[in-house]
Amino acid sequence: MGGMTQHAHPARHIRPEDHDLAVWSRAIAWILLAVILIALPFVVILAGDPPAARGFLRDFSLGLGFSALSLAGMQFALTGRIKPLLHPFGADIVVVFHRFLSWGLVALMLGHFAILYIWHQDDLGVLNPMHAEPHMTAGRVAMGCFVALVASSELRQRLGLDYLWWRRLHVALALLGFGAAIWHVLGAGHFTGRDGTRGLWLGATLAWLGLIAWTRLWRPWQQWRNPWRVVQNRDEGDGVRTLVLRPEGRPLTGWRPGQFAWLAVGTSPFALREHPFTISTAPDKGPELSISIKPLGDDSERLSKTPEGTIAYVDGPYGTFSIDREADSGGFVMIAGGVGITPLIANLHALQERRDPRPVILLYASKDWEEIAFREELRRIARDIDLRVIHVIQDPPEDDWPPQDHETREGMIDADLLADLLPDESRDWPHMLCGPAPMLEAVRKALRDKGVPLARIDSEIFEMV
Ligand SMILES: Cc1cc2nc3c(=O)[nH]c(=O)nc-3n(C[C@H](O)[C@H](O)[C@H](O)COP(=O)(O)OP(=O)(O)OC[C@H]3O[C@@H](n4cnc5c(N)ncnc54)[C@H](O)[C@@H]3O)c2cc1C
Repeated sequence: MGGMTQHAHPARHIRPEDHDLAVWSRAIAWILLAVILIALPFVVILAGDPPAARGFLRDFSLGLGFSALSLAGMQFALTGRIKPLLHPFGADIVVVFHRFLSWGLVALMLGHFAILYIWHQDDLGVLNPMHAEPHMTAGRVAMGCFVALVASSELRQRLGLDYLWWRRLHVALALLGFGAAIWHVLGAGHFTGRDGTRGLWLGATLAWLGLIAWTRLWRPWQQWRNPWRVVQNRDEGDGVRTLVLRPEGRPLTGWRPGQFAWLAVGTSPFALREHPFTISTAPDKGPELSISIKPLGDDSERLSKTPEGTIAYVDGPYGTFSIDREADSGGFVMIAGGVGITPLIANLHALQERRDPRPVILLYASKDWEEIAFREELRRIARDIDLRVIHVIQDPPEDDWPPQDHETREGMIDADLLADLLPDESRDWPHMLCGPAPMLEAVRKALRDKGVPLARIDSEIFEMV
């Protein structure tokens, strides 16, 4: 641990926009903007000269339809990987917003249809698409698309739907549904016929379409112009392979340790065939990226075998699972299961490069002692910083156990183990968790029971959908 004093205080590495106050202000500003965008159509309708009311229920139902369309447009912003929007919340929380808003959106659309179907059949006209007006059929197509979007996402794992095919279906249904909804609104012409309101709807539509074009065309094009080359593919143990990528164009900017990027190898960046992976090294080490991949499915298997020299495309950085958001913490508790070690390794690399003096306790759960990714790497890092690593092994070997030169425990990470290993003063340190979902749930509960404040528990989730 020599030489620590020559390094600056840890807080020096925290950027102004990562301080709590800045993060909270941005989060509130985004939420206010969302509320304004949803309310805007109603304000314009009410402020203008509304057409003669034709019954509360009918107008209410139209209101539900307009709100559904606003929410649908907003979904493109939530899934468009807009960095300033993701920054205060984190990519996983935004996915959760996206999911709940989708349920709300479908409920509003069904409510819109149901009210007209029950009380204002004359407005709906005939349902048979052969005889119905096209813009009315478009409305029903939109509703069908959005119901299918939510159902296919909620049931994806149960239906065994392959992730990539689900994603393509998702994008196609979203575009078709949104386009059909716009056609329906403009075709029906309620509250859209006069110059002001028509301009508002056209403007909003163009803004959302611009956002889609930016996400699906402009950003992939930027990736295509800035390729990366795989310069190394090495074994880390436990089947994990690390790809080292060198920038052939612009390197990543503004990257924090613990963040992730979307990686596409062997396909064009336009192909939607990309996967999120943690950058398992720290920006302090230079512009090369390391991506450590555990082959758990078809694509991760393929990616882990990428030959050196191959071109790759990277979209990032994203995510908030970083020590760079922790200016004032007295230390860190890190808890990893299996390949969930990758974001923690990245953060540890940063602490190592900076010779950060703060203590770190890492509990690392693995199945076997023989196969542990980054075992030696962790030992090297522990020579440079105040890092205590405890390997928790589910099936320890019969012979030579426990090893003399490592701290180990048998079994799983549970409340007793945490009570035994974590000192009282660590309660207010950030607890950074990454691993399989059941492990995260059990550890989170045990930490809460131990009195760790919720705000001090942060987890990275590898299965977003
Ligand atoms: C923020 C984040 C960081 C990650 N970091 C790492 C890492 O450092 N190392 C590592 O080995 N794995 C990491 N993963 C997991 C990795 O993305 C998946 O293992 C990989 O995408 C699986 O793809 P597959 O085709 O091999 O498997 P499949 O069998 O097709 O998928 C297995 C599961 O992985 C998830 N998944 C698959 N594709 C995607 C995708 N494009 N986007 C989101 N989720 C997907 C789905 O939940 C799916 O059910 C990370 C995931 C996330 C969300």
